[in-house]
Amino acid sequence: MIKEKIKENIFLAPLTTYRIGGPARYYLEIKEKNDIEEAFAWAKKEKIKVYILGGGSNLIIPDAGVDGLVMVMKNELAVIRGERLECGAGATLARACSLAVSNNLSGLEWSSGIPRATIGGAIRGNAEAFGTSMADTIETVEFFSIKNKKFDIFSNRMCKLGYRQSIFKENNNYLIWSAVLRLKVKPAKDIQVLVEKSINFRKKRYPNLPSAGSVFKNLEPEYVKNNNEILFNREFKAHIGREGKISAGLIIDKAGIKGKSIGGIKISLEHANFIVNTGKGTAEEVIMMISYIKQQVRTKFGLQLQEEIEFFGF
Ligand SMILES: Cc1cc2nc3c(=O)[nH]c(=O)nc-3n(C[C@H](O)[C@H](O)[C@H](O)COP(=O)(O)OP(=O)(O)OC[C@H]3O[C@@H](n4cnc5c(N)ncnc54)[C@H](O)[C@@H]3O)c2cc1C
Repeated sequence: MIKEKIKENIFLAPLTTYRIGGPARYYLEIKEKNDIEEAFAWAKKEKIKVYILGGGSNLIIPDAGVDGLVMVMKNELAVIRGERLECGAGATLARACSLAVSNNLSGLEWSSGIPRATIGGAIRGNAEAFGTSMADTIETVEFFSIKNKKFDIFSNRMCKLGYRQSIFKENNNYLIWSAVLRLKVKPAKDIQVLVEKSINFRKKRYPNLPSAGSVFKNLEPEYVKNNNEILFNREFKAHIGREGKISAGLIIDKAGIKGKSIGGIKISLEHANFIVNTGKGTAEEVIMMISYIKQQVRTKFGLQLQEEIEFFGF
């Protein structure tokens, strides 16, 4: 019986990298495939909304908590078969990467140093760094269709993976259950170099305070040019990144608002696209800061920033 596995009033802040958020009214750890259909059926009968939580590293949860059923993905199995890595959506990217590295398999080194992120969350947002993304390794993804109440499989192409985008994000009908990643055999020392480069980059660039990573998406150069050609030529043209975009962090930095605080929340001095929790920050303050930044960038440059982080359970 699924009801026996569901807990009530579980605090979610410790399950997020922001360390912010109130309790889930109902809380269920998903380890077994069989529990999924039953959990959705129970929520439908009780007229309760369902939310899917991975590692909580890309979202903000309301201070008042989530009035619904929060399903936390805990199917953490990860197995190597030849050059393939089969992993549950609840496996962390860190574990998947270290398993790959210990088998001399390359493809996930870019993710080294990202805290808590799971395979499911990384596929949904097509996580990426240094020009490599989940899209480069995904072979297939197994998911549960909430509408059709059945499991199915998408090939890489069917996942419609793009910059911070996928079919799973476009359409909330899907719960990602597992994935097969296709990796490449490489000499251990070459893999190790990439892992260390990635960890060192993050240690140097990322603030040492709770955050949800980059808050805003990077911008298309065409968009910046069309909206503010003088600024584009003067400030940003020379800084188009490896993935062909202009860093939102650079734009916020140029707006001159780095270090700005609202309550316990601050725009990081190390990386302007990180809004950090200095200790007692609240979700409300994060939201105020997001709208402050958007308004400043709009007023000063005529550019509209878009959130990369997600509002969970609002
Ligand atoms: C310090 C730091 C550095 C970061 N650096 C990077 C970086 O370099 N590159 C990058 O791309 N990201 C980065 N991130 C952001 C984040 O780690 C990634 O976006 C990550 O992929 C999110 O995974 P998650 O499991 O934490 O998802 P969550 O934050 O738990 O969830 C994100 C969204 O995915 C949904 N979701 C989660 N699991 C599933 C599932 N199984 N099925 C369906 N939907 C699901 C949730 O409902 C939510 O809408 C960073 C974050 C931090 C804190």
